[in-house]
Amino acid sequence: MSARLQPRGDYEVVIGLEVHVHMRTASKLFSPAPVRYGELPNHATHPLDLGMPGVLPVLNRRAVELGVRAALATHCKVHSRSIFARKNYFYPDLPKGYQISQYEEPLATEGWLEIEAPSADGTPHTVRVGLTRIHIEEDAGKSIHDAAIAGSAGSHVDLNRAGVPLLEIVSEPDLRSPEEAAAYLRKLRALLRWADVSDADMEKGQFRCDANVSLRRHGAAQLGTRTELKNLNSFRFVEEALYAEIARQAALLDGGGRVVQATMHYDPVRRATRVMRLKENADDYRYFPDPDLVPLVIAESEIDAVRRALPELPEDRRARFESEHALSGYDARLLTESRALADFYEAAAIRSGQPKVVANWMLRDVLAQLKERDCEIDATQLTPDALAKLIALVEDGRVTAASARPLVAVLIERGVDPETLVRERGLEAVSDTGLLEAAADEVIAAHPEVVAQIRGGDARGLNFLMGQLMKRTEGKANPKAVREILARKLAG
Ligand code: ADP
Ligand code: MG
Repeated sequence: MSARLQPRGDYEVVIGLEVHVHMRTASKLFSPAPVRYGELPNHATHPLDLGMPGVLPVLNRRAVELGVRAALATHCKVHSRSIFARKNYFYPDLPKGYQISQYEEPLATEGWLEIEAPSADGTPHTVRVGLTRIHIEEDAGKSIHDAAIAGSAGSHVDLNRAGVPLLEIVSEPDLRSPEEAAAYLRKLRALLRWADVSDADMEKGQFRCDANVSLRRHGAAQLGTRTELKNLNSFRFVEEALYAEIARQAALLDGGGRVVQATMHYDPVRRATRVMRLKENADDYRYFPDPDLVPLVIAESEIDAVRRALPELPEDRRARFESEHALSGYDARLLTESRALADFYEAAAIRSGQPKVVANWMLRDVLAQLKERDCEIDATQLTPDALAKLIALVEDGRVTAASARPLVAVLIERGVDPETLVRERGLEAVSDTGLLEAAADEVIAAHPEVVAQIRGGDARGLNFLMGQLMKRTEGKANPKAVREILARKLAG
């Protein structure tokens, strides 16, 4: 088996990720204020989010449900009892002076996620990444220092984000390269979307990542000292920042220096990391159970109810596509990258009754079109029914595959009936035997040397003759009919 990709031959790279994800709720974690994006500053707030004294938090039931969903989808142990704690720190966008989070007794622990890890020779293999914990917490507000956004100079505070329900998902230090880190993040984001936990839109700050990284000599038992890269808001930046930080640490160690535990900032313009602050310890936050909130107790029956409401998960879907639809593992994986895509494929496969054929059309034509348009399948006009119909027209020989393939783009743009489209564009395959017979006679007469070759037992020339005949009918001849006619005439 090929080795997992290692960016630095001399050191082993060790990465653990912390992901913060906004849960898809209508209101905030402890206040009735709505969760809205793009709202005027401080217009989606409640006295609780503003840190007013004398208000009491009330836990959002839906957020707990979504947290349990995420935990079950990642094979975590969900705890029937967890504790909300105050994490104390001063920041202008945190008017209460503390964030309500979970610390000693989190919602869930000990899960895992499997990723396809790239390797040096390009053959991916599966790596199981441990999840240390998942806990629920509230988001903080935002400080805005940009006059162009705030409308005037100086620093401004927008508390619309304060109190938005978050999950913090902490991985074990099981990742070994920036590529694996990116693969993990992609997989996790897709899964959270699949399970309807979050829209996980990185541009809206709904999915954010802190990356911890350290180096050690190969074979060393102890982990090296780590640094933490804060708030990386795109997969590309995660990879770039990790590469920059790995290079910095490697140079330090090569020179006989030591890595100091710190929180780092990545500057994408300089493509370099720099120390933002020396790492604070958990002690500095003076965590303690929030006296305003009782322990969160979830009955086993409630956890079961959430489990039953979960959609079939991507890995199960993939296994079923392999066993029931006889798809390759590779194809099944591509078709389960999102729930919308898997649903679409499956509906079309059922309609058509030919899963393999549908999968080929999806992978070859539909995915290419989606990529070109940078959109998801459910944002197009294409329906499973229309795709199945188009494929049936090809399978029945009523239109050639060559004529049908460009129609996928048309169906994606405009939800038209494939049969009407074929007729309107005059793309019906020519099965008129009289016409095809005449064309075959012409082709045979024009290439006596190829004909002699075929009659001498070398069948390779047949495809050439078919190609010539197709040209004469502008690619519209029914290939089955053409092959039959040519075979008969050449045998005669
Ligand atoms: P904190 O909240 O202080 O950042 P955690 O113990 O929650 O600390 O760890 C945060 C992350 O750091 C986890 O994802 C963990 O896997 C990762 N991590 C811990 N030690 C190392 C290390 N030596 N090298 C790389 N990552 C590490
Ligand atoms: Mg951290």
